[in-house]
Amino acid sequence: MKDANWPELVDTIAQNVELVGRLVVEHRPDNDGRCVVCRVAGTSLHAAWPCKVSELAADALAVIRSRGAARGPG
Ligand SMILES: [Zn+2]
Repeated sequence: MKDANWPELVDTIAQNVELVGRLVVEHRPDNDGRCVVCRVAGTSLHAAWPCKVSELAADALAVIRSRGAARGPG
């Protein structure tokens, strides 16, 4: 379930290409399909992947690509 202000969040994060790249790399699934960074509040369990941050970063990446802001290869 995405928050009502999701597009704003995506837009804000998409302004920082470096941040988006870092979030995509850091919030990746482990062997159990859970985010290696995020945890379920109040527990020691890792959150199911794609986690919210991962989804946010993926959407932001799509925004960045769609506006052609990518510089150089990669
Ligand atoms: Zn995560």
